[in-house]
Amino acid sequence: MQAIIIGAGPAGLTAAYELLKRSDIKPIVIEQNDFVGGISTSREYKGNIADFGGHRFFTKQKRVFDLWKEILPIQTKPAMDDILLNRKNVFLKKKKIIDPEKQDNCFLYRKRLSRIYYNQKFFDYPITLSLNTILGLGIFRMGKIFLSYLKSCVFKRPDTNLENFFINRFGSELYQTFFKEYTEKLWGVPCSQISAEWGAQRVKGVSILKIIKEFFHHDKKETSLIDAFYYPKLGCGQMYSEMAKRILEMGGEIWLNTSVEKINLSKGKIKNIIIKKQDGSLHELTSEYIFSSCPIRTLIRLMGEKVPQDVKEIAKNLVYRDFKTVLVLANQLKIKNKTKFKTINNLVPDCWIYIQEKNVHMGRVQVFNNWSPYLVKDFKNTVWLGLEYFYQKGDALDHINDTDFIQMAIDEAEKIGLIEKKDILETAIYTVPKAYPAYFGSYDRFEEIKAFLKTISNLYPIGRNGMHHYNNMDHSILTAMVSVDNILGKKYQDVWLINTEKKYNENA
Ligand SMILES: Cc1cc2nc3c(=O)[nH]c(=O)nc-3n(C[C@H](O)[C@H](O)[C@H](O)COP(=O)(O)OP(=O)(O)OC[C@H]3O[C@@H](n4cnc5c(N)ncnc54)[C@H](O)[C@@H]3O)c2cc1C
Repeated sequence: MQAIIIGAGPAGLTAAYELLKRSDIKPIVIEQNDFVGGISTSREYKGNIADFGGHRFFTKQKRVFDLWKEILPIQTKPAMDDILLNRKNVFLKKKKIIDPEKQDNCFLYRKRLSRIYYNQKFFDYPITLSLNTILGLGIFRMGKIFLSYLKSCVFKRPDTNLENFFINRFGSELYQTFFKEYTEKLWGVPCSQISAEWGAQRVKGVSILKIIKEFFHHDKKETSLIDAFYYPKLGCGQMYSEMAKRILEMGGEIWLNTSVEKINLSKGKIKNIIIKKQDGSLHELTSEYIFSSCPIRTLIRLMGEKVPQDVKEIAKNLVYRDFKTVLVLANQLKIKNKTKFKTINNLVPDCWIYIQEKNVHMGRVQVFNNWSPYLVKDFKNTVWLGLEYFYQKGDALDHINDTDFIQMAIDEAEKIGLIEKKDILETAIYTVPKAYPAYFGSYDRFEEIKAFLKTISNLYPIGRNGMHHYNNMDHSILTAMVSVDNILGKKYQDVWLINTEKKYNENA
């Protein structure tokens, strides 16, 4: 028996890997790109490696963490920057030697610091009631924040959209200062037009009461702010190229440069799919099990005439946000490290920085040096950045060609005091279409699409765009694992509930 899997991102590869490990079903993965990893890939440019947005490996799902560790073992010896900075690492005591200085195949343990950049000053993320915040905003602004918070406690709004969701929890002033700008850059529409579901998924556990509590328990504040994550030595994509290697070794197939062109339905099943290979030839494939991580809008379009008209309309109007990262290699940054964390050349210690400045399009900045020292060819003397932009087909940013886009990004970086042009050595640009499935457009009728897809007995939608759900890698992977469980006759679980129900968000 065989399974067809559309997409070689984390979800598709996991489905293939799990089938090979746990059954006799042979997977064939169909991938339109010439690389694996989907959005979670890494690209090399002149010896420097970058992700499409830095990808933090963090999960509360033990199954997913076990899988990641199986593919890339966790370091037990210090990485280059641990050594240079004499940093202690909690995993260093284990017996097995996994030395990032001597082997590439390993998972690094990293400390996370990410802050908000607003008015050319740094603020904690999530925001804290610290002396830095008070001095940065000033007493008058702090007073306004406090009063507007009190008002939001008395006059509750219905949690019907993201703006109300934020104001109910933080007050209008704090929302305007630290949430509105970045969120609207990300989604391209006012927060009042975005479903509150996004906030519920993303700002879990952050509230004014928590901020105040942390102020009085200073030690705890430090640990929640500087939490940790794992990261492959050579970038996020290393995890998935390693997984792909194992799939091939175990007898699975991955067909790159191959796209799905048509999906033929008959009697509540997918009868066959038509694929197009790189040489332009078309082939028909049939299978008992078809996993799809391709965007729902595309999936429904490929199914053609047999789809009910309403479902077609809803799918056509699903919205996605695209993403561009302008990579910049520089001698140094203009902003310097004023924290207590030691860094090489006094580089800011952040892995990424949220840009809350109003007068630029830039939404976030990655400092790849702080993800893994092995991403940067000349780690000791250069800084490797990703300047990130979110946009949509047809909007103003979409019409800028790559050369002008790079220029705009550099101008903006200089304008907000991040960098000086004279220090820039190299630039490159990458685009990720459909990077973010949006919770607006026709999303409020998404249940109708879901109900239709559930009628197709051999279809297994998985992943992020495959389920139009704002999933991180872990939940994307979990949807594939649970789908394989369902095929292999384990107790049935509804894969659509992943990352919506409490049990899938907590330790499982
Ligand atoms: C900027 C950014 C930062 C992120 N940061 C993090 C992070 O820090 N931590 C984290 O856990 N997650 C992060 N994520 C989320 C993570 O990237 C996704 O959850 C993950 O990649 C989803 O995996 P997937 O397999 O579902 O989909 P994808 O990665 O989108 O893979 C789907 C694959 O299907 C292929 N495909 C689509 N249509 C077809 C077709 N018709 N024929 C053939 N192939 C097709 C695509 O080419 C692609 O390779 C981030 C995402 C973005 C955009």
